[in-house]
Amino acid sequence: MKFKKLVKFDIKNFSAYKSARSMCVQGNIWLNANESPINNKFSIINRNLNRYPESQPKNIILKYAEYSKINFENIFVSRGIDESIELFIKIFCKPNVDKIMYFPPTYDMYRVNAEIFEIKTIKVFTKNYNNFDYDAIKKNIKCLKLIYICRPNNPTGDIMPKKILINILNISFGKVLVIVDEAYIEFCYSESIVNLIEQYPNLIVLRTMSKAFGLAGIRCGFSIAHIEIIKILKKFISPYPISTLTSNFIENFLNSNFINFMKKTVSEVLKNKIWLYKKLQKIKFIKKVFESFANYILIECFSSKFVIKKMLSKGIVLRNQNNNLGLKNCVRISIGTKIECKKLVYELKRLSYKFKYK
Ligand SMILES: *Cc1c(COP(=O)(O)O)cnc(C)c1O
Repeated sequence: MKFKKLVKFDIKNFSAYKSARSMCVQGNIWLNANESPINNKFSIINRNLNRYPESQPKNIILKYAEYSKINFENIFVSRGIDESIELFIKIFCKPNVDKIMYFPPTYDMYRVNAEIFEIKTIKVFTKNYNNFDYDAIKKNIKCLKLIYICRPNNPTGDIMPKKILINILNISFGKVLVIVDEAYIEFCYSESIVNLIEQYPNLIVLRTMSKAFGLAGIRCGFSIAHIEIIKILKKFISPYPISTLTSNFIENFLNSNFINFMKKTVSEVLKNKIWLYKKLQKIKFIKKVFESFANYILIECFSSKFVIKKMLSKGIVLRNQNNNLGLKNCVRISIGTKIECKKLVYELKRLSYKFKYK
């Protein structure tokens, strides 16, 4: 597949920014990047912060490759996956000509970036996955560039069946890139489809340090894809997306100890989720508790605004999804510690008693 053809302009005649760091030279007097020559007290182990970082820090890619059992060459690192979600649109989509597809209700950043860059969108509504609308892809195959699939889906917590995903990959093969956002995959790891990247070179899988790994503050995410796509991404990313502090941190801490800690956290959260799911089902004013593959539960109630306000007055912060397509009066609850879950259930129950006596 010639992915270069999918890029919105003639890639051959595009000259990428050549950062000082990208020109691999050896030397000991560095006068090529307008950096400060004076190192400062903020230096960390083996790194001087007065120097620019590598664009694609090799050590953290190696660490993630080892953890995920994915080849080094198939991994691209960015400032969180929000940066790559934006980058794909910047690289592949011509404003007011090309289209992207996504499946609402879902993560809002696909829409936001499409709007910012004036890219047309095709929204395929998937209340359930029966009668999936493959025609929407076939009909638009000429101008469709990217398909964003959030899997597991934020905020509903459901997961697109593998069979449907594979059908989408087949229909779009050679024509459209399919981006599968696996931000929450550690909570249902056996569902990952990352092993399909060899078979489907039009597939890009997104992974992040922000959720299960508990490192949202560090801003680090990975795009996993065919080597040809990785090459294109490297050509267009801003010169220094990952700070030295971030890569140094990941390099030092993404070891087996930390991975075991992450897995323990995940099983703790999953236990709390099962507990909370059962409790929520017993609360009268909750009309529906959505089943979830991730670390949150969506509920539907009589008035999301009211419930959110009441919980906030008890110091509990929830996320309103009322404005998300098809999610009227829905509230998303992230799974907290057991104590936090108990406090939430206590307050929701108290609220439901009040209703009874009204
Ligand atoms: C949180 C989230 C992101 C953002 O990830 P970062 O790596 O922190 O930028 C992307 N996609 C989904 C579905 C998310 O929920």
